Amino acid sequence: MALVGIARLAAQSPLLEAKRAVQYFEIPARSILNRTKPTMPFRWTINPYRGCEFGCKYCYARYTHEFMEMAAEEFEDKIYAKAASAHLLRQELRGIDRRDHIAMGTATDPYQPAERRYGRTRAILEVFAQERGWHLGIVTKSDLVMRDLDLLREVARANVLSVNVTITTLDDKLARMMEPRAPRPSLRLEAVRKLSEAGGLRVSVFPNPIMPGLTDGPRQLDRLAKAARDAGAVSFGGGPLFLMPSAQKVFLPFLEKEFPHLVERYRGLYEKSAYLGKEYKDLLAARVRQIRDRYGLASGPIEYKPEVWAPEQETLFPLK
Ligand code: SF4
Repeated sequence: MALVGIARLAAQSPLLEAKRAVQYFEIPARSILNRTKPTMPFRWTINPYRGCEFGCKYCYARYTHEFMEMAAEEFEDKIYAKAASAHLLRQELRGIDRRDHIAMGTATDPYQPAERRYGRTRAILEVFAQERGWHLGIVTKSDLVMRDLDLLREVARANVLSVNVTITTLDDKLARMMEPRAPRPSLRLEAVRKLSEAGGLRVSVFPNPIMPGLTDGPRQLDRLAKAARDAGAVSFGGGPLFLMPSAQKVFLPFLEKEFPHLVERYRGLYEKSAYLGKEYKDLLAARVRQIRDRYGLASGPIEYKPEVWAPEQETLFPLK
């Protein structure tokens, strides 16, 4: 029987995108705390997952899948939840200096969709809620962070906690192209607002990475900083795109498809190094600083003295 009406239209519709099949695995973890290079602003990182379903085109962490003999593109399709993370973390915290800063979510988003099922980020926060005196920062693009609002406030009562929400653009269409499966910017801003209004939390917005010709316009950054301030963020800071070869494999074809006029410029900019040159970096830093000052925002996480604090740190803590 010949199809008619909507059935015929449906049958003739071109395929836009087949539903992706994301695979989830559990991977044993040798450690939960990973030491960073001395140049980083934090000494330790925690990433409860390997791989990140948000699939940002510029994601620098794709190389971490190459360590597992996988293609950079599999970073968003094969997600590994680290096993026994809370138990291991408790043991590891006993062996490090409480003054060291710890950052969660530097290589994968701790609130990516897998977190709804596996709760590894929540398990780690539950450990910190029972601890005192740590400096912890969380970076996310997801409004799922709202699920843990009460837990985060518990952590922040006894530790210096900063919740950092990444918003690269307020433009939903651009965000969808660059960060295909991350929550849209308006949802992230709403999370900033709710977290800030709840009290007891210091929330920052970071427009990282700032991308030449895509998100580095003064008006774009100004609107973003204003929206962050209006939503209750206390700081706003950003740096330029870092594009190592594994990220270029995904980002350059993306540019060729969506922004072909930018391809040559990017090839030139990143031909010799994954880092942008000093001239661009200085100009961008000045731009961000000016905008940040306009809205009275700080450049990074805010130090504060938690209500409950580790007694041995009373004399070490730089009070503000
Ligand atoms: S949210 Fe972060 S870790 Fe996840 S794909 Fe995007 S840039 Fe990479």
